Amino acid sequence: MSATGKCLCGAVTFTAEEVEKHVHACHCSMCRSWTGGPMQAARCDGVSFDGAEHIKTFQSSEWAERGFCSVCGSSLFYRMPETGMTMMALGAFDEQDQFDLAGEIFVDEKPAGYNFAGNHERLTAAEFMASIGAGE
Ligand SMILES: [Zn+2]
Ligand SMILES: [Zn+2]
Repeated sequence: MSATGKCLCGAVTFTAEEVEKHVHACHCSMCRSWTGGPMQAARCDGVSFDGAEHIKTFQSSEWAERGFCSVCGSSLFYRMPETGMTMMALGAFDEQDQFDLAGEIFVDEKPAGYNFAGNHERLTAAEFMASIGAGE
């Protein structure tokens, strides 16, 4: 399934050739600082941008960077440059009803004041890191 999207101001638009319909929500402190809340994102392949000159990236860890619109500040993607793995922010897609919430990660870092409804997988930071083989 392909999909299109854009930032808040429209300076950056994108088309993703292959989009996973199942999003994960991340409650880690970095995602919350970056997006203003839990980050929901969908794994994508073959993402091409228009207005790429307006994209700025911030290296948030040794292995990942986060891309955002330098005009309006919209969070656009989380990417691991070494592997090319790209997660596009759910809020950036034009059509968001087609995605379902497949799971939550870093639930042990989630602020206490809210919970997502639904019967899906919920992983702590340690459980998630183990699930991707990231050792200790
Ligand atoms: Zn923008
Ligand atoms: Zn996160």
